[in-house]
Amino acid sequence: VRSSSLALPILTHLKKKCDTSLPVLRHVAEAMAIDMRSGLAADGVSDLKMILTYVNTLPTGNEEGLFYALDLGGTNFRVLRVQLGGKEGRVKDTEFDQVSIPQELMFGTSEELFDFIASGLEKFAQKESGRFHLPQGRKREIGFTFSFPVKQISIDSGILMKWTKGFAVSGAAGRDVVACLNEAMERRGLDMRVSALVNDTVGTLAGARYWDDDVMVAVILGTGTNACYVERIDAIPKLQGQTHSYRNMIVNTEWGAFSNGLPLTEFDKEMDAASINPGEQIFEKTISGMYLGEIVRRVLLKMAQEAALFGDFVPDKLSMPFVLRTPAICAMQQDNSSDLEAVGTILSEVVGVTCSSLSARKTVVEACDTIAKRGGRLAGAGIVGILQKMEQDSKGLIFGKRTVVAMDGGLYENYPQYRRYLQDAVQELLGSEISENVIIEHSKDGSGIGAALLAAANSKYA
Ligand code: ADP
Repeated sequence: VRSSSLALPILTHLKKKCDTSLPVLRHVAEAMAIDMRSGLAADGVSDLKMILTYVNTLPTGNEEGLFYALDLGGTNFRVLRVQLGGKEGRVKDTEFDQVSIPQELMFGTSEELFDFIASGLEKFAQKESGRFHLPQGRKREIGFTFSFPVKQISIDSGILMKWTKGFAVSGAAGRDVVACLNEAMERRGLDMRVSALVNDTVGTLAGARYWDDDVMVAVILGTGTNACYVERIDAIPKLQGQTHSYRNMIVNTEWGAFSNGLPLTEFDKEMDAASINPGEQIFEKTISGMYLGEIVRRVLLKMAQEAALFGDFVPDKLSMPFVLRTPAICAMQQDNSSDLEAVGTILSEVVGVTCSSLSARKTVVEACDTIAKRGGRLAGAGIVGILQKMEQDSKGLIFGKRTVVAMDGGLYENYPQYRRYLQDAVQELLGSEISENVIIEHSKDGSGIGAALLAAANSKYA
């Protein structure tokens, strides 16, 4: 018996458990729509938080003037300025800078962190060249992308609920992060103001909408995942009585927390149990870049231990959580050579499998494909769930006219098979006629400029 053939029953079982046939996808799309509805009805009752963003005014393309963006979402913060020239001139000029955040500031006080950010912003503002023009008597306005959980109360303020992603800054949770930044700017005598506080998905939607009026949904597929869309004010019961002169608001779904009806395996359950947030972010753990490689590693480990996929030898490295990352499984899927040489090299370099038979390599590629296929197809079902919810509430809003879904993030950008599977699922679910009008479009780094565009669209001087 060839050693790898013993692994075939494990592969067959995996494929069965990862089934994303049309009925499964339909069920997921419907569950997404239902959870969206209950999240819009009240807080705390749905997997989906459906966070109100207070973004009512999206860029139209007519915006003019000088605007800044500040993006804090991880170990770097980015600053950007853009000179907008209205319908004709569009984005006349941009400049940006990136500063990494010193480790100690991630564990320091809120004042220290915001002082550091304000000082980075000040240095960047001082380098503003003559190509940028601010009309007399105006302050420089900022769109602030802040990708941590925030309870927003208006377009330009929001309370930090908790730090995530390794940040443990004291004294900011429970405070308005815009006020924190404003105070730090005041301490330095820096005369700028935050006109829009947004999360990165919302920035992506705004950045894409600037170029295309038909953009209704934005999805990020990177290390993590999230989606937002344009919702009707009268379809948001939890806004209750808050008076609104606008018809629409962007809603941030926080769809990474979705969990209903997903086809999960023992590998997903074990990975979740071992994670820092067991039971949370199940959709994210099934479809996003942080996890796809780790799921495959767990599959390969079982195949190695129980079916001698790589012979009698099980390398120690294969037992190390997160050694196999999503870019590596993606690279293995790009190997078109007859002997799968690149697969062999990656197995050797990344997980310490020094000798793999051709049939073992084929099994490895199939395991990668199974997990990428499930992820891409479920992401597609999630998108269709959002579109269906919108269409159910306003007949003809989506189906029967051109609708654009703006996509961003390293996973979507770099994993061609995943992207294909996502597209296929959307097409299968919507049927060929409707899906011809649903355009899933990569919006390259829309979110940086998107925040500046939202500052412009929500300018105090407009
Ligand atoms: P983030 O989501 O961390 O803000 P990105 O949108 O750039 O940043 O996404 C980075 C993620 O994209 C990585 O964590 C990885 O999972 C995924 N990724 C990056 N490169 C590739 C690749 N070549 N193939 C597949 N996935 C990739």
